[in-house]
Amino acid sequence: MSPELLVQVTQTVPGMAHWAGSKPGDADRCGRCSFWKRPPSVFGTLGAFPCAKYQELMRVKSSPRIPGLTPACQYFAPLVYGEAGR
Ligand code: SF4
Repeated sequence: MSPELLVQVTQTVPGMAHWAGSKPGDADRCGRCSFWKRPPSVFGTLGAFPCAKYQELMRVKSSPRIPGLTPACQYFAPLVYGEAGR
């Protein structure tokens, strides 16, 4: 196992759609991803919420909550402020 993959595996938490930190480029977080199922009243990366991408891939309706500061995975899609009441 490469050192990079070892770090990703170590940082990954249950309910993620792929390895933590597998998003290429900068260091985004799950809390800034549009798949992170935060309520409309929640801003920023505070808290822990399920990943909609994981639920889609696994065909489940519920899944573990992911802390907002978890390093983003390769499915990261930036949250666009102004949509969905944010
Ligand atoms: S970066 Fe987005 S798609 Fe990937 S695990 Fe986090 S919330 Fe889910």
